Amino acid sequence: MKNFQNLDNLPSYSRRRFLRASQATVAALSAAPLLGGATEMLAANVPGDSTKPHPDYYDKLGVTKLINAAGTYTDLTSAVMPPPVRAAVAQAALHPVHLAELQQKAGEYIAQKLQTEGCCISCGAASAITLATGASLMAANGCHPLDIPSKIGTPQFPKNEVVLQKIHHYEYDVAMQLCGIKFVDVVTLDDYKQALGPNTVMTQYFNACDDVGISREDWIAAAHEKGVPCHLDAAADMPPISNLWKYTGMGFDMVSFSGGKDIRGPQNAGLLLGKKKYTDLAQRNICPVSSVGRGMKVAKEQIVGMVAAVDWLLSQTDEGMEQESRERMQPIIKAVKDLPTVKTSIMVPEVANHVPHLMIDFDPDTIGASARELRVRLRTATPCIELNPHTGSKRPSQGVPAQPNALVVTTFLLNPGEEYILARQIRKVLKNPKSVGVYPPPPRPAFA
Ligand SMILES: *Cc1c(COP(=O)(O)O)cnc(C)c1O
Repeated sequence: MKNFQNLDNLPSYSRRRFLRASQATVAALSAAPLLGGATEMLAANVPGDSTKPHPDYYDKLGVTKLINAAGTYTDLTSAVMPPPVRAAVAQAALHPVHLAELQQKAGEYIAQKLQTEGCCISCGAASAITLATGASLMAANGCHPLDIPSKIGTPQFPKNEVVLQKIHHYEYDVAMQLCGIKFVDVVTLDDYKQALGPNTVMTQYFNACDDVGISREDWIAAAHEKGVPCHLDAAADMPPISNLWKYTGMGFDMVSFSGGKDIRGPQNAGLLLGKKKYTDLAQRNICPVSSVGRGMKVAKEQIVGMVAAVDWLLSQTDEGMEQESRERMQPIIKAVKDLPTVKTSIMVPEVANHVPHLMIDFDPDTIGASARELRVRLRTATPCIELNPHTGSKRPSQGVPAQPNALVVTTFLLNPGEEYILARQIRKVLKNPKSVGVYPPPPRPAFA
């Protein structure tokens, strides 16, 4: 690997040089366990197709490509898929199959790999939550997918209550409400036991909530005493890899994971794992049935991509992935450490996004700009760099303490070599904020 002696002259990569450099980086590290060979990365060919390169539609559409130093954020289109996953997606595109057969066999395969009874491949964690709710309604009421939501809560199918802690309400409530349920909020364990009644269909638990409240163990035990199934939203809560079987092993009947976050599958794939009784009912609610899951179709490419992502992930280790993230922080740490007032440290949040976060602390008066301003400047420069949204945060959130005067950088989603671009640009913006991007940002174009 190159040793950049003069930190102010870190190479200014053109895209072509960057790609060549990433090839060199990959070769030198022989590492890139995350992304594999650059040759594969560059090959835009579909298996079985000619070697003719295809147009880059981002360029054709004038869409800005970004360097993701933020994390698996949906609005940043989350992660890129590792090469074996991309190859599986391209391969799957070559042949039509029977959708239900693919769903069923892929589900069985993943369930076995992830040490649980059943699996339904959803089109994301949010859709897995809807499918879990639908499955619970069907189990409790003995109703058909087409009875959801219109006949739920009628004398024919009266069972419609989802019990959850008041503090566990969140933006994904709507994923359950789609099914026509009613929420019953509880605060104490006693409340909870009282609330589990004849109309309860399911309990809901938000795994990464900053405030846990009633423990997972007490939560499951009380529900199971009444025969009520428990759903856990653990969408972003891998690594460690073992979390993929830890929560089902603990007794949660249904656990939802996002497929497009750290599992590194397609962004519109997800997993509902757990008891086969419920995952089978979930499969009955998803496309091609014209039910609440009809708009949550998972295409063959995404189903196969999800399977390949699970295979890829199980070939990795937590230690290897964390080590790689930390190594890729080194050029950035080196590039900023001689700057006035700048201090770096690394933290790993406990539950969600359990990956190393690099904190670059500085005194805004000395540097001449706030952390928020620097984030905007990096975003509006070329190449566009997205820092973690905890940058400049005044409140702790999702296990990350407040960082009013720090840039927050993650490196686990970078393409090979991008850490050097980050090192150069972050140094530049800290040395002379006005030399990078614009602030305040120009108004965003209105797409409406
Ligand atoms: C990201 C996330 C979801 C949604 O995941 P998708 O795969 O994008 O549908 C749901 N719940 C939590 C807690 C999440 O972090």
